[in-house]
Amino acid sequence: MKIFPGMHYTMGGLWVDFNQATNIPGIFAAGECEYQYHGANRLGANSLVSCIFGGFVAGPNAVRYARNQQTASGNGHFDSERKRQEEINAGLLKSEGNENPFRLWRELGELMTKDCTVIRYNKNLQQTDAKLVELLERIRNVNLGDRSMWANTSFAFTRQLYNMLQLSRVIAQGARLRDESRGAHYKPDFPDRDDKNWLKTTKAYFAPDADEPKFEFEPVDVSLIPPRARKY
Ligand SMILES: Cc1cc2nc3c(=O)[nH]c(=O)nc-3n(C[C@H](O)[C@H](O)[C@H](O)COP(=O)(O)OP(=O)(O)OC[C@H]3O[C@@H](n4cnc5c(N)ncnc54)[C@H](O)[C@@H]3O)c2cc1C
Repeated sequence: MKIFPGMHYTMGGLWVDFNQATNIPGIFAAGECEYQYHGANRLGANSLVSCIFGGFVAGPNAVRYARNQQTASGNGHFDSERKRQEEINAGLLKSEGNENPFRLWRELGELMTKDCTVIRYNKNLQQTDAKLVELLERIRNVNLGDRSMWANTSFAFTRQLYNMLQLSRVIAQGARLRDESRGAHYKPDFPDRDDKNWLKTTKAYFAPDADEPKFEFEPVDVSLIPPRARKY
């Protein structure tokens, strides 16, 4: 039987505060998609705490937020964003390039599996990011094959593929920046946990002007429970 670390153990998710609110007003997140309740590792039941307790908090807060709003289209943001999304959709549907989105996706999977799971080398991470930039270039030249407006799975898939590519850059660059080993992030060149420099949460945000992720680091509050090495 082939034993392999599951993708589930790639830690991280949307940043949320204690109200499960993201940094985008009105967007709440709970469960697998957000980052709370696990650090560099997933301990048993962390994920279910995240989805069950986080859901109890996020749901009522989302309802409260919605009730306090005037009208959905009151400030014009909704309309302008819908127009932007419609333009992206129209561009995708008429794109006549020569790239197959499913092939790009397969290449992405192979690339990330090769150098971006548990064992990580800086040189390989840098090469991974360079290849991700290439894939982001190639996705501009995509050809959906199916241009229908009904049940077009290639279309929905390709929109998600762009997000996967951006998120993969976050994973590769975030790993490159963290020169230590912690939990499911193991760098043979930096085999020890380095609390002095790296007891921090990596935070990435998207910079649309640069079309790439930017990074900052948030210290972890250990005032109640001091960290200690985990030994079995
Ligand atoms: C093999 C495995 C073992 C695990 N073992 C454990 C364990 O032992 N302990 C533990 O605590 N956790 C464990 N987990 C993790 C835990 O099961 C998950 O974190 C949890 O179930 C996630 O719940 P969720 O509701 O956040 O997300 P999900 O269950 O992923 O639900 C997301 C839902 O959103 C839907 N969706 C997606 N996109 C859209 C869209 N555009 N529009 C509408 N709907 C959409 C999906 O169809 C899905 O129903 C395990 C997970 C796996 C895969």
